[in-house]
Amino acid sequence: MRTVTAYATPSAKAPFEKVEIQRRDLGPKDVLIKIEFAGICHSDIHTGRNEWGEAHFPLVPGHEIAGVVAAVGSDVTKYAAGDRVGVGCLVDSCGQCENCRNDEEQFCLGDGAVGTYNSQDYHHDNAWTDGGYSQNIVVSENFVLRVPDSMGLDVAAPLLCAGITTYSPLHHWGAGPGKKVAVIGMGGLGHMGVKIAHAMGAEVTVLSRTLSKQDDGAKLGADHYRATEDRQTFTDLAGTFDLILNTVSANMPIGDYLGLLKAYGVIVNVGAPAEPMEVNASGLIGGNKVWAGSNIGGIAETQQMLDFCGEHGLGAEVETISGAQIDAAWDRVVDGDVRYRFVIDTATFDD
Ligand code: NAP
Ligand code: ZN
Repeated sequence: MRTVTAYATPSAKAPFEKVEIQRRDLGPKDVLIKIEFAGICHSDIHTGRNEWGEAHFPLVPGHEIAGVVAAVGSDVTKYAAGDRVGVGCLVDSCGQCENCRNDEEQFCLGDGAVGTYNSQDYHHDNAWTDGGYSQNIVVSENFVLRVPDSMGLDVAAPLLCAGITTYSPLHHWGAGPGKKVAVIGMGGLGHMGVKIAHAMGAEVTVLSRTLSKQDDGAKLGADHYRATEDRQTFTDLAGTFDLILNTVSANMPIGDYLGLLKAYGVIVNVGAPAEPMEVNASGLIGGNKVWAGSNIGGIAETQQMLDFCGEHGLGAEVETISGAQIDAAWDRVVDGDVRYRFVIDTATFDD
């Protein structure tokens, strides 16, 4: 075992503490990664504050990991020491079931996908996984991604969750030239949704609570920017969009947004508030509309997304913080005060 410095939250209401955790010895197919940056996803906060009611403490969150390969096991073929790599929300799965064989490891039908944190790793003594708020991690090579050379590791880290979670539904539902796409909420996921939908060639509208981030929206690639606190927005944009991506972390009046879709239009929920959301069936029936969900993406699609972002010069807009600033950053994310992803510099753990 290898002792590693990490930041853990001891309970739902306690601040983070700097701790020592253990990483397993390298198995033949394992890769040891020196983590340089870890993004802060709102899912870390839902989990760590036990809003989803499934947290196992102490918890080391972090599923937006970018770093450099430090060592590889004897049978590793895909990576070598010095490679620039990432790890997202998944670190293992059964590998045998229909979904794993179809590159949809996130839907593993075997014993389930093993999450990067807060998950019991059935291939390794059912140990609870610890995530990326740490200085290194050991991951099977099949769950390691290659970061394009052109991309800084700091701006790459958030792509491992925010990037794939927006790329996958945009790709699946056909965002591209001639399509009108709206993104609700311009936070960590939302700002990547804007960049990626624009790069795919769609006409992009941001639906944010206020116009306070309008200038940024234009810089990220949005063609239009409207405030949802202004009811006129819902009148003006009725029947406009082919696709709406809802990235909001809180409960939303989905029925209001169904009215913004064209007939056969689709609203995809990636935002995952704890409370149930309500929809009146008539809002779906009128216009044959679809309310869909989307859960991250498989490993192959995550690599496709990284390569797409590399080709289009896309990375996250980041504010880099130290380990000691994690609590304050979580509060700022909840307050909507994030431009547009906090990224923890793990070198600061040595301070
Ligand atoms: P974030 O950075 O906090 O962004 C969420 C945005 O939603 C905010 O910037 C804000 O945008 C808007 N918002 C927040 N509270 C709101 C409220 N009460 N009413 C209306 N709008 C509000 O969070 P994130 O990291 O992007 O994550 C967003 C959600 O996606 C979370 O629920 C997270 O758990 C979930 N998620 C899901 C997946 C998946 O696989 N499906 C993966 C990752 C994350 P404006 O200020 O522009 O209005
Ligand atoms: Zn995430």
